[in-house]
This record gives sequence, C-alpha cells and structure tokens, in this order.
Amino acid sequence: MEEAAEDGRLASLPRMGQKTAENILKNLSADYRKDVRMPLWRALPVAEERVEALRVQPGIRNVTVAGSLRRFRDTVGDVDIIGTADDTEAVIKAFTGLPYVTEIISAGPQRASVRLQNNLQVDLLLVAHESYGSLLQHFTGSQSHNVALREYAVKKGMSLSEYGITDVKTGKTRHFADEKSVYSHLGLQYIPPEIREGGVEVEAAERQQLPPLVELSDIRGDLHDHTNWSDGNSSLETMIEAARARGLEYIAITDHSAGRGIANGLSIARLSEQIAVIKDLSDKYNDIRILTGSEVDIRSDGSMDFPDHLLAELDVVIGSIHSAMGQDKDTMTRRIISAMENPNVDIIGHLTTRLIGSRDPVALDEEAIFRSAAATKTALEINAAPKRLDLKDYHIYRARELGVMLVISTDSHMPEHLDYMRYGVSQARRGWCESRDILNTRPLPELLTFLKGR
Ligand SMILES: [Zn+2]
Ligand SMILES: [Zn+2]
Repeated sequence: MEEAAEDGRLASLPRMGQKTAENILKNLSADYRKDVRMPLWRALPVAEERVEALRVQPGIRNVTVAGSLRRFRDTVGDVDIIGTADDTEAVIKAFTGLPYVTEIISAGPQRASVRLQNNLQVDLLLVAHESYGSLLQHFTGSQSHNVALREYAVKKGMSLSEYGITDVKTGKTRHFADEKSVYSHLGLQYIPPEIREGGVEVEAAERQQLPPLVELSDIRGDLHDHTNWSDGNSSLETMIEAARARGLEYIAITDHSAGRGIANGLSIARLSEQIAVIKDLSDKYNDIRILTGSEVDIRSDGSMDFPDHLLAELDVVIGSIHSAMGQDKDTMTRRIISAMENPNVDIIGHLTTRLIGSRDPVALDEEAIFRSAAATKTALEINAAPKRLDLKDYHIYRARELGVMLVISTDSHMPEHLDYMRYGVSQARRGWCESRDILNTRPLPELLTFLKGR
C-alpha cells in the first residue's frame, strides 16, 4: 500500500486522486509509529494489574509503578515497577510467573525484566527499604526533571543521587524511605509526578508556588456523552443510571448531529424529540441533572450542522471536527474560530482529532485558537477517551496560561467509558490545571451560569 501510494499507482485508481493517496500515506506512517511507544491506555491497566498481583505477595513492603507511566505520559516506552521486599527472590519469582509473560529477558536476585504478550516490556526493581523514596523519585523521572533537581541541589550545597542526598560539606548522606521527604529535605514543595517534566516545576516548587492540581474527586459531571440515539451502545436511561452510580451531579447527553450521515447522527426532528424525552426523564431524578445537548459537526466552512434556533434550545453545545481533516492550517484555524464565534457553541470537542498511534492531529494554529477561545469564552475540551487525550498536555498548559476555560469529558459511548475520566484528569494535571480551570468541577448553578453567559 505504501509503495503504491508513493509511486502514484494509488492516485491513478478510479475515484482516488492525489489527495486521498497522500492522506492514506500519512495515516500509514502514523500507524507504524505505534511500535515505538505504547499508548498509556494499553500499558496502564497491564501495569496496574501487575502491581496489584505483587502487592499481595508475602514479604512485599512497597510496590508502585514508576517511570513515564507514573507521570501519565500519553505514550510510554516500557513499564518500570519499583518495590521493597523482605524476601526479594520470592517476589522476583512471583513477578516472572505472572500471566501473559512470553519471555523472561532477565531475572536476578533484585531485578527482573519480562516481555508480555502485547510486546510491552516490564521491569521490576527491588530496592533497600531505607532508600525506597530516593529510588522511586529517581526512577519516576523524567530525566530532565532529575537533571534540574540535581542542579538545584548543587546550588544548595547538596548532591542528589538515586540512593540519597549528600551534604557536600560534611560528606554525610541521608537516605529516604518515602519520596515526599526527598523534596522536603531539598526545601522544595512536593512536586506531583505528572508535572516532573523538567520545565519550570523545580523553580516554582522552590518559591512554593506550585498550583494545587485538579483531582478526580473534584469532578462533578460529564459534558460529552453518547447514547444509542446516535453511535453509543446504550440507552439514555442506562447512561443516566451509570452516571448516577458514579455519583455525578450532572451529565450532558450530546449525541451526534446528522452531519455527513456518519455515526447515525440525529436529524433536527430526532433531536427535538430527544430534548422532549430528556425533559420528561429529568422529572424522574432529583439527584442528577440531565442536560440536553449535541455534539454538532463543524462543517468544512465553519458553519454548524444545526440551525442556531435549535442550538439555542440546548443546555450544552459541543462543536467538533469530524470531516475534512486534511484542510490546510489557515482554513482549519478559521473554521474552528468561526465555530467559537457562534454564541451557541459552548465547547470545542477533541480539538486536534488525533488518535494516539493511528491518526495524526489536524493542522491548526493552536495559539490563535486559544486566544480566540479566551476572548469568546468558549471552553476547550480535554477529551479523556484514552485513544484521544486531546488536548495534549502542552496544549492544556498553554491554554490555561491564556485563561481558556477547560472541560474534561469522557466522550462515553457506553457506561464503562465514564471511568475514562481519570485519564483526562491526569492530562489536565500534566497541564498544571487547578480545579478552578476545569468547568465540570463547578457546582450545577455555576455551570449553568457559564453556559448561559456564552
Ligand atoms: Zn467527536
Ligand atoms: Zn463524541
């Protein structure tokens, strides 16, 4: 396929054309890259399962995931697990004997490395209990965070290693059994793993100015959810019950607009019908507010797929790109900005449309879009669906800096997807978000005020 796309054979096929061939080529190369790093959503459940299995081994004292997975990077190279144990050999044996191990790469008295069925490499390192904090800190990284931390320590007359902190004058080394003590000994605020990326976090921690990062428990509702009215797999009632079961205070039902006929989108008539059904259902529940909504296609010219009078009736309007993703940067940027300029559009969904490991982001001028989002008070979505995680962490950081309101949404298509919220929260944390930066941490009355204020 790649050869045929490159030498022009693909483009010469009936109804194909140069542009389609180029798009196929682009997506092929995006697909290849998934071999290089594994998406977070594939690695995290496997790693957590392993940690849980080790936690119940006799003689284990501590065990946790380290590395980029602990920092919730959207992709990871391999999985590092760190622990302390009284009987290290027994724990190593248990580790290499866990399910799905296809190859034991190495196994010594204190460390082992295995490859799993899905090709993921998992390393376990068992360390001395008194140095556990230092080692966990070291193996959580990132490398550039550790470099920044070491440079900072040198300035303070200390020398930092994976085993402890040495006072340069006295030559005395202190070991740390817990990680928080490493930072406090250095005179720093505790730096959460998600923001240890070697940017400005060490300086901010020195000035005690790290923001209190948003937590999963701050989230009160979900503003992007599908039912079987469009391409979701569950009924309205099932989704509402699932949201109630998770203690959400509100949920927005945002099925697709008809758009180009994909995803079983709603016609004007069916959306009007759904609004009526939701209003009826709402009377049944006094512990959760069901918001009417739609995920409306932003058409290729920037107009919305539903007329304004209908959008104005809805509680929540998400504008999303689902078509014409190959537009050039200027056209795409103008397209999204014109959607934001529509006062009925509250939120822009999955801005870049990327799918981790399989679809590249569209070309757009993020800076112009963030400035326009701030000016028009349009919220930007952090899509928590683990294949999307869109916005990306550095987008989130910049958008927040420019005063853009953000919203973390699961884009659920079935009840279990509501649990994806943690992935979105982790990316928001990587972008330094506080609870006040996130729209759906607001109590319902405040949320409604924001939506109406648009
Ligand atoms: Zn969408
Ligand atoms: Zn959606």
